[in-house]
Amino acid sequence: MAKPLVAILSGAGISTDSGIPDYRGPNGLWTRDPDYEKLVTIEYYLADPEIRRRSWAMRREMFDLNPRPNAAHLAIAELSASGAAAVRVITQNIDGLHQAAGMPARKVLELHGTSRTVVCTGCGARTPVADAFARIDAGEPDPPCLECGAILKAATVMFGEALDPDVLASAAAIAKACTVMFAVGTSLQVYPAAGLAALAAGSGARLVIVNAEPTPYDDVAAEVVREPISEAMPRLLRALAPDRTNENAGGRRP
Ligand code: ZN
Repeated sequence: MAKPLVAILSGAGISTDSGIPDYRGPNGLWTRDPDYEKLVTIEYYLADPEIRRRSWAMRREMFDLNPRPNAAHLAIAELSASGAAAVRVITQNIDGLHQAAGMPARKVLELHGTSRTVVCTGCGARTPVADAFARIDAGEPDPPCLECGAILKAATVMFGEALDPDVLASAAAIAKACTVMFAVGTSLQVYPAAGLAALAAGSGARLVIVNAEPTPYDDVAAEVVREPISEAMPRLLRALAPDRTNENAGGRRP
């Protein structure tokens, strides 16, 4: 029998247990700083060195939180490593925590890019974000590209920028082909996450929604789970890898 293809569609809710603030909650970034949106809008970013300086400082603050993957990220990586299922992650998050948990980078599609890498707006050169922070510490609050002198930015998809069509196409292919999709910590209210959940359900996948709040797709989901994500995901994914459960419990393999 072919291995099941398990798609994980993850949003901000999977990372709040790792201490990453959300955007619109009581302690959300946008709630604390109404100007935040400008720091992540390409038009303002390219036009204003002061916005860039503040944007780097904000990213530095997030980086220094040094978030660690939580039990949900780890359970997903463990299922992948167990070989019991083919696992692909499609994430709205830019925090790199799925990879930090052990998911191979090639199996993680980052719809909104990554905050761990910096890209040049001129020549496209990509460098680790730690290099940019080191230059900021050394006295360059808005460090230009060392190759061509153009403006550097985080390799995230800012407001006003298009999503990567190749990443989107790969995500759609996975949604169409998967056996089961877990939509985890995402409100499923915005494109493209909403469309991917609809595509999976419409293509015959079992859609499992794990989210604290109701979503527009609860009605088409096979299962809706409201318990905390870092508790729910290990339980739900263990059920997909029975061999491994036996092994961990000291049981015999068949
Ligand atoms: Zn450059």
